[in-house]
Amino acid sequence: MPVKVNAQRVENDFTALSQIGITPEGGLNRLALSPAHLEARNWLRERILQAGLEFRVDGAGNHSAYLQCGSPGAPTLLLGSHLDSVPNGGKYDGALGVVAALEALRRVKEEALQLPFNLEAIDFTDEEGSLVGLLGSFAVAGLLTEEKLDNSRIGLEAMSATLQRAGLSRASVLSARRNPSELAGYLELHIEQGVRLEQTGAQIGIVTHIPGICSYRLIFLGRADHAGTVPMVDRLDAAMGASAFILAVREVLSSEFPDCFANVGQANFEPGAFNIVPERVTLGLEFRSTEPKQFSQLEARLLASAQYEAGQYGLGFESHFQGRIAPASMDTQIQSAFSAASDQLGIPWISLASRAGHDAQALAMVCPAGMIFVPSVGGSSHSPIEYTRWEDCLNGTNVLLNAVIQLAQKRQKGKPYHE
Ligand SMILES: [Zn+2]
Repeated sequence: MPVKVNAQRVENDFTALSQIGITPEGGLNRLALSPAHLEARNWLRERILQAGLEFRVDGAGNHSAYLQCGSPGAPTLLLGSHLDSVPNGGKYDGALGVVAALEALRRVKEEALQLPFNLEAIDFTDEEGSLVGLLGSFAVAGLLTEEKLDNSRIGLEAMSATLQRAGLSRASVLSARRNPSELAGYLELHIEQGVRLEQTGAQIGIVTHIPGICSYRLIFLGRADHAGTVPMVDRLDAAMGASAFILAVREVLSSEFPDCFANVGQANFEPGAFNIVPERVTLGLEFRSTEPKQFSQLEARLLASAQYEAGQYGLGFESHFQGRIAPASMDTQIQSAFSAASDQLGIPWISLASRAGHDAQALAMVCPAGMIFVPSVGGSSHSPIEYTRWEDCLNGTNVLLNAVIQLAQKRQKGKPYHE
């Protein structure tokens, strides 16, 4: 018989948490380390202490409930998500995963289940990126750099002040790295933020991959000329090569990389006058793939295509790398634990790739990681109308708890699940 969560307690927790930072439209303003976010974290701390669990905060401000298993030197299985939101965001994004993680620890404690790992329910700082993006999970994974902190979206000064207000500092944040050998894995429950579950009628989505995201600035270099006196055939028009490339992106993706996504979302023409042939066009390119090999093939293919189109029009070409988050594969043993738990509970599930970034992406770089999604009504998210049926929230919480038990059983049989 599967162990069940305390439905009323989960609902009470979720309802209370949803009031902190609530907006007139019924959404949430809980930007990372804002007063409302810190209030939500205080609320979490109280709930952790009331449950008789150990409370911890690390140098990145990540708040945790901790349950020791009693075996010295045992690794820790992390369960979690985030309590921060985007401006006027939804109640479920992140918060549901934190409430579910806390409930899983409470139920394991109440049932006095003997697990071969410690359990930790963690609320990661700044998943949504009002400061840096995935700050807390990158810090734990040891992937946070000085450079990332320098490039904070709110600027250096405001970043220092914000960290200070929360009792943190650059040095403390950079010291939050955990030794990967102490981590048994990471499990996260999240809302889908899309309509694939709704369309298939499944109630649980087991995530297979999280996409990598890479961006470049591409520069096409021609020659400024009089727009009336220089014959069309004699021009080195940077706009021609840039435009040809934008059209080629769509063609390359649809014919060679149908599972990937690419976007040219910015273009700047210089000198930028009606009567001057463009000398220089800068494009902002971003592309996504869930497969590491395909990700680098796509990168090479798009850069070669840009170079080729520039050459077709006699133009010079430069590419400037802007940033990359690697694609992450979710651990297959954790996926199996989620599917076994769903089957045990009689909840229909499907496998799917995530289309958004999540904390699990950072953790996957250093330990086995897995995620489940529950349906988002109409696919709406990052908005006050974000909604997940309560039955689905509870199903997800029950699957999370029972996946932990599945993993424990596998490990106890002497099979490390991350072989
Ligand atoms: Zn989220």
